[in-house]
Amino acid sequence: MKHITQHYIGGKFTDSVGQEKFELINPSTNEVIGTVVLGNEEDAQRAIAAAKEAFKTYSRTTAEQRAEYLQRLHDAILARADDHAQALIKEYGGPAQMAQFLVKASTDLILSAKESLKNITFKEMVGETEVSMNPVGVAGHITPWNANILYFCNKTAAALAAGCTVVTKPSEMSALQTQVIMECVNAANLPAGLINIVNGRGDVVGAELTRNPDVAKISFTGSTAVGKSIASTGAATLKRVTLELGGKSAHIVLGDADLSQAIPFILGSGFMNSGQACIAGTRILVPENRLEEVKSALKQAVGHLKVGLPEQPDTAIGPMVSKTQYQRVQSYILKGIEEGAELLTGGPGHPEGLEQGNFVKPTIFVNVTNDMTIAREEIFGPVLCVITYKTEQEAIDIANDSPYGLAGYVSGSDIQHARKIAEQMEAGTVSINTFGHNPFAPFGGVKQSGIGRENGTYGIKSYLEYKSIF
Ligand code: NAD
Repeated sequence: MKHITQHYIGGKFTDSVGQEKFELINPSTNEVIGTVVLGNEEDAQRAIAAAKEAFKTYSRTTAEQRAEYLQRLHDAILARADDHAQALIKEYGGPAQMAQFLVKASTDLILSAKESLKNITFKEMVGETEVSMNPVGVAGHITPWNANILYFCNKTAAALAAGCTVVTKPSEMSALQTQVIMECVNAANLPAGLINIVNGRGDVVGAELTRNPDVAKISFTGSTAVGKSIASTGAATLKRVTLELGGKSAHIVLGDADLSQAIPFILGSGFMNSGQACIAGTRILVPENRLEEVKSALKQAVGHLKVGLPEQPDTAIGPMVSKTQYQRVQSYILKGIEEGAELLTGGPGHPEGLEQGNFVKPTIFVNVTNDMTIAREEIFGPVLCVITYKTEQEAIDIANDSPYGLAGYVSGSDIQHARKIAEQMEAGTVSINTFGHNPFAPFGGVKQSGIGRENGTYGIKSYLEYKSIF
């Protein structure tokens, strides 16, 4: 049992002013595995003040100095790779395979920011005018529970690369993972105030970051509803915002798709991170004349997926993060049935033998229409909707008929043709036949999936503002 009582402010572990105690629960067993003392507005203000002070000198460092700090941060985080993975598995039930991938991807993101620094021209002449790019100021980072380390590393690396100092408020449900991160930040021995981390609630610490005039930019990853409230509160002080929000991504299975490749791709992208992934491909668009074939292949493949304890290496689907999230997913499954969708596999309740945790049966609905609640709203659990189409144009129209536009997926044998379909999908990223991950390529959403882009030079530039000197 771990009791976390401190934040990381001004280069030191610092006792919390806020005294609310929050229980940390293992989602596989629903047992209490720790507690965290949540910060209040004053903790947030102290962290902002430390970041503001550090910004005075850090904003004037050279790109080479910042690259060195990034390398140190990378090394310190990588040195505790196992501890990060264990915390992730224990605290939110991320399956072991996914946990290891996430830790590696996170540290790669720090290196990609370091590398990308070489491709940014911070100063250039435009005629007789000197145009420079300068860090915006203190950055406030607000992150979700579903892959704490990934968001921490990506946002922190981009901000530090640009010359910004940072205050991060991770999800209150990620305190064990955050504790390991704080220890790594401390071990990296960076100048005091560069990275500050405050545990706390969104409507307390997060709201203070969003409101505080000394915070110049907010980078937020989380739900669309909270993203909208951040954009609206931040507008009072004209904060720059990067918003990485929810999704309801479509996977278009083309007429020429090879199902031996498409089915693992559908399940891999749909049930990624136990379905708790913003980029999950949850609307599966299938040509009408291939429906029966797809149904039987999906049913058979799901039968081979292991739902189980996240620490077991062959587990594909672990528990939902919390009882609340479990109940939310259950209510969507019931809603799908009530609205007339047909269960191909899965359904309400726990999988047999896993009643003690927040485990959900991997569920696939067929006979879904795109106006059903389960096709429109983000469920954030292992629930997929199969929707049929007659023509490719109809498939594209259905894919784009969503308030969201985060990711898209295409399965098809003719790659050039699949690429043409991908071009017409309203989404920030589209993967063809296999899941794409490139830490240098921009990541983000269109429509209500967000504003702005992260990764590589694109991410760093979102922390910079131009200045012209005549
Ligand atoms: P959430 O929106 O409930 O919380 C995210 C963060 O915002 C948490 O740290 C929370 O404490 C904070 N917060 C809550 N209310 C706030 C307020 N009023 N002001 C400031 N901060 C506040 O999301 P969640 O449940 O933690 O995560 C799941 C959601 O995140 C899903 O919708 C998912 O799609 C989305 N997500 C998006 C991406 C992406 O890159 N687009 C990645 C992962 C998750």
